Amino acid sequence: MNRRNFFQKAGVATAALGAFGVQSCTNVPKLYGDKNFYINKGYYAIPKLKLSTDRIIKETVGLRPFRESGPRIEKSMLGNKILVHNYGHGGSGWSLSWGTGNMARNLVMSTGKKKIALLGCGTVGIATATLLQESGCEVTIYAKDVPPNVTSNLATGTWSPSSRVCAHDKATPEFQKIWEEACRFSFKRMQMSLGLNDIVSWGDEYAVRKERPKPGEGRGGGSEVFEIEGLAPHWKELSPKDHPFNAELVRRRSNMIFNIPSYLNFHLNNFLLRGGKLKIHEIKKLEDIDALKEPVVVNCLGLGAKTLFNDDELYPISGQLACLVPQTEINYKLSTKGAYFITRKDGIYLGGNGIENSYDTTPNRALSEQWVHTLSELMKDMKG
Ligand SMILES: Cc1cc2nc3c(=O)[nH]c(=O)nc-3n(C[C@H](O)[C@H](O)[C@H](O)COP(=O)(O)OP(=O)(O)OC[C@H]3O[C@@H](n4cnc5c(N)ncnc54)[C@H](O)[C@@H]3O)c2cc1C
Repeated sequence: MNRRNFFQKAGVATAALGAFGVQSCTNVPKLYGDKNFYINKGYYAIPKLKLSTDRIIKETVGLRPFRESGPRIEKSMLGNKILVHNYGHGGSGWSLSWGTGNMARNLVMSTGKKKIALLGCGTVGIATATLLQESGCEVTIYAKDVPPNVTSNLATGTWSPSSRVCAHDKATPEFQKIWEEACRFSFKRMQMSLGLNDIVSWGDEYAVRKERPKPGEGRGGGSEVFEIEGLAPHWKELSPKDHPFNAELVRRRSNMIFNIPSYLNFHLNNFLLRGGKLKIHEIKKLEDIDALKEPVVVNCLGLGAKTLFNDDELYPISGQLACLVPQTEINYKLSTKGAYFITRKDGIYLGGNGIENSYDTTPNRALSEQWVHTLSELMKDMKG
C-alpha cells in the first residue's frame, strides 16, 4: 500500500468514528469524489509526476568510463610501486563499487603493505578506500576533483549492475563469474547503508510499454548483458487493475536508489572521521605516481586512467540527465520507450541516452524537452 492510500484508508476509519458521534477535529478526506481513492475506482493509484519544461532546474552530461572487456581489476608493478587497478565500470560503477573495491582490497592485502595511496575520489575510490581502512590500512586519497565535481555525481543512482558493464561479445562466462561475485558483495554492502538518512533506499520501479514488444524485439536501454538470481526482486507483469497506466504491458519490481549527494558525502566524511586523508592532487604522468610516498597505489581514476595508462579499451559513453524540482510525494521510478525518471531526495531525474566515444559534456536542451514530452504523454493518459 503506498503512503497516500494508507492515509486515504485511515480517512475511512476516522469518518466511520464520526458517524458514531465522535467528533474529530482532523481534516477528514472526502470519501466520495476523491479521485485518488482507488477502492472506489477499482485500480491501483499512484501520484502523478508534474511535468513541464520550466520545472527543469539542472541539466548534466556525465561520461561513463566504459571498457570493452569490463572493469580492470588487477595487480602490476610500476617501477618500485605495487599498482592495483580498479577502474572502467561503465554504467555500473555505483552498483559494483563495493564488490570490485573488495577485489582490489584483496589484491592490496596480499602485498602485506599497509600504507596505501588511492587515486580517485568517485564512488569507486571512496568505497575502495573505506574497505581498505576497515582492513587496517592507512589510506590517503589523491584526486584532482572531489564530489560534487566527479562523474559519479552525474549518475542516475540506481541498482543497475550490468548496465554497460562490458561489450556483448566480451561477456564471457569467466567474466560473468567475477561480475557476479562483485554484485553479491556490493548488494550486501548496500543494505548496510539502509536507514542512514536514506542515502540508500528501496522503491517501486515501473516499466511501461504502450504496446507489447513483437517477438524478437530487444529490450534496448542500458545494454544489460547479465541477469542475477536471488538479489533484487524480479519484474512482475501487472493486470490492468494493478496499475493506473493506459498501456498494454506494465511490469513492476522493487529496486534500490542511491541518493547520490548525501551518499558520497556520508561515506567520504566517514572515511575522514576514521583518520583517512584526502589530498587534492592531479596525476599528470606516471612519474607523479612514482613520486608518491606510499609503496602501494590503487588506481580508481575512472576515465582518467585512459591517457595515463594508455588503455585503448577504455572510452566514454556520455549520458545526459535533466533534473526537475523535487516532488516528495513521488516515490517510484519509471521507464518507458526512450525515457525514464527516478525519484531522488535532490530532485526527479530524467534520462535515457548514451553516446559512445563522446567527450561532449554540453547538455542538449532539446533532448531534455523530448523526455519531458514523452513522460507527459504517459502521465496525461494515466488514471487518477
Ligand atoms: C548518466 C549516467 C547515469 C549513470 N547511472 C548509473 C546508475 O544508475 N547506477 C550505476 O551503478 N552506475 C551508473 N552510472 C555509472 C557510474 O556513474 C560510473 O560507473 C561511476 O561513477 C564511475 O566511478 P569512478 O569512481 O570510477 O569514476 P569518477 O566518479 O569519474 O571518479 C574518478 C576520480 O578520479 C579523479 N581523477 C581522474 N583523473 C585524475 C588525474 N589525472 N589525477 C588525479 N585525479 C584524477 C577524479 O577527479 C575523480 O575524483 C551512470 C553514469 C552516467 C554518466
